[in-house]
Amino acid sequence: MNPIKNVCVYCASSTQINETYFSAAKRLGQLLALHHINLINGAGRQGLMGAISDATLESGGTVTGIIPHFMIKQEWHHKGLTQLIETETMHERKRRMAEMSDGIIALPGGCGTMEELLEIITWKQLGLYPKPIIILNTDGFYNSLLDMLEHAITEHFMRNEHHQIWRVSSTPEESIELLYHTPIWDNTISKFAVI
Ligand code: AMP
Repeated sequence: MNPIKNVCVYCASSTQINETYFSAAKRLGQLLALHHINLINGAGRQGLMGAISDATLESGGTVTGIIPHFMIKQEWHHKGLTQLIETETMHERKRRMAEMSDGIIALPGGCGTMEELLEIITWKQLGLYPKPIIILNTDGFYNSLLDMLEHAITEHFMRNEHHQIWRVSSTPEESIELLYHTPIWDNTISKFAVI
């Protein structure tokens, strides 16, 4: 079983989305608190980011938010987090989120979330991030992205071994299980980096 103490969750900042997505974010926040796992996220106060932080804190958990200075200036940050880390740039924010985490979960989101998810998949492909990456496919939100990744493998833009980079869950409960039980990627994977 993996030692999971800090988990980074990528998710939407939008407030305009279906309640199903909010329910999944809130449930995931409750489960993180229940398992004594510190939540790491982008510190946004709105959308799924705000919802998961609130649910984690209300359930007695802790949240570390990492956010660039320009977003704080615009008051986009959640003001009640356990810890707020300010960065100079978006790149530094993503690097620190990855460095501090024992695993990643991607909830549904827009370009920001998908960019974060595809970047961490790329890092794992290169052997730079060995830990579990879980795609929480609430209501099949990620079906088209998963089809695209499959297409990239079928067309030999990626190798068959790269299927092992991510795991797909359909519920928050399953995501937590996968965090504990997805094998840590060993360094030999970098030999598969060349397609
Ligand atoms: P998206 O999935 O496009 O909503 O992107 C989520 C990511 O977008 C976050 O991690 C932030 O980088 C950024 N973001 C966009 N809008 C906001 C906002 N109002 N507050 C905080 N982060 C935001």
